[in-house]
Amino acid sequence: MSPRIHTVAVIGSGTMGAGIAEVAAAAGHPVLLYDIASEALTRAVDGIRRRLESRVTRGKLSQDACAATLARLFPVADMQALASADLVIEAASERPEVKAALFSQLAEICPAQTLLTSNTSSISITAIAAGVRHPERVAGLHFFNPAPVMKLVEVVSGIATSTGVVEQLCQCVSGWGKQPVRCRSTPGFIVNRVARPFYAEAWRALEEQVVDAAVIDTVLREAGGFPMGPLALTDLIGQDVNFAVTCSVFNAFWQERRFLPSLIQQELVLAGRLGKKSGQGVYAWPQGAPEVAFYPDVKHLAQQTQPSGDSVTIDGVLVTHCDGETALEKASRLKRPVVVVDYSEGDVVAVAAAATNSQRQTETAIGWLQRQGKKVLLIADYPGLLVSRTLAMLINEALDAVQKGVASEADIDTAMRLGVNYPHGPLQWGSNLGWQRVLTLLENLQRHYGEERYRPCSLLRQRALLENRHES
Ligand code: NAD
Repeated sequence: MSPRIHTVAVIGSGTMGAGIAEVAAAAGHPVLLYDIASEALTRAVDGIRRRLESRVTRGKLSQDACAATLARLFPVADMQALASADLVIEAASERPEVKAALFSQLAEICPAQTLLTSNTSSISITAIAAGVRHPERVAGLHFFNPAPVMKLVEVVSGIATSTGVVEQLCQCVSGWGKQPVRCRSTPGFIVNRVARPFYAEAWRALEEQVVDAAVIDTVLREAGGFPMGPLALTDLIGQDVNFAVTCSVFNAFWQERRFLPSLIQQELVLAGRLGKKSGQGVYAWPQGAPEVAFYPDVKHLAQQTQPSGDSVTIDGVLVTHCDGETALEKASRLKRPVVVVDYSEGDVVAVAAAATNSQRQTETAIGWLQRQGKKVLLIADYPGLLVSRTLAMLINEALDAVQKGVASEADIDTAMRLGVNYPHGPLQWGSNLGWQRVLTLLENLQRHYGEERYRPCSLLRQRALLENRHES
């Protein structure tokens, strides 16, 4: 328990408030739980009791610890009772007017040293603090759902938040077994901003009718190493919730094109196809995504294989990694058959063939990949394919956030690994791949589409230049 934070108050006892109250009580704090709706308080305490008792049944928690945690929960019916709290965490409904009213009441009720925080996902901490006396003690404490399970907490500072307060909050949540990351109050904070391309590029591939949803999800999961495909994940999160976050980030960035929401996703929301919770979203549930069919085994064996750099020529067919140029663009430029191979760190790989290849030429490349142990998915000849373009966009967004001082590199990587379980932090990933490779991919995408969306950020250009200098 943090020495200076004894009593914790949680406002709003819905999904997040109940989870946060459980975490704080389990860490030894007396927790005052307040909600405008008394039935929500009863529901929250019952829910916490059920969760803790199930942990006792599964042998993960002692009966004594369960009883002690429950005894530290104090539902209160009057906000005045929050006067004794050292730390208030507001987790009421995501409406600016609700937060503004609560914080001005808190400023009246609580002494000047009480730390006042909000679990908001999208409302500016600077705005929340604006009407509060001593705004230096106002910050964001952004937990992830489910709060008792997810390790990450974004500690968000508004323009007036003091560094001492940020440090105190980081220490406090560390003591609760959580991993804090520091970030500035900017739209989406770290995770909800940097993760946008993960969804956006999948919707784009669907919109351009490159392949079925199940293939997109399989490739991102099995080749990209992500725990779940982006489209299946939106079904789990809820299409309405995921779409609302995208719209909120898009609008908060003054309609920045790279955050453009998807019309396909909007259609799902309008149709009430909200995902798992409604029984239908991108997929029908509970079945979820259907199995995908990999390319059948190619029988004929290649005669001649010549490796060269990142590429290999097999019986005259150039098999090369994806750099954002389509196979047809390459084939036309080089005047030879080409197969482009997507990024893969697993045994599944997506490939695209130039339309000018003969079937035998394409199969020569596929057969060679199969003999390297790969399960091949042949997809449409799409610039940047699936994993490569998603990675390039994630890395670019993470670099943009670094450049704009949203958070440190280490904190961004930690946030993406723990908040959305990415296999690697995007900045570490970029450094492993090589900044020049990421830059080339984005430049090719930007040239192909002529869109602002794929513009490489200036920090990426600088890193690529430095990398090239070191290598020459
Ligand atoms: P929820 O709808 O489950 O719960 C909100 C609770 O706040 C309700 O019980 C409601 O009665 C109560 N409430 C509303 N107005 C109030 C007021 N004036 N005073 C006291 N209580 C009031 O919502 P949630 O999903 O738990 O989200 C709460 C906050 O956490 C939001 O700011 C949301 O953006 C944020 N958040 C949500 C998630 C998530 O995945 N659900 C994740 C991170 C952050």
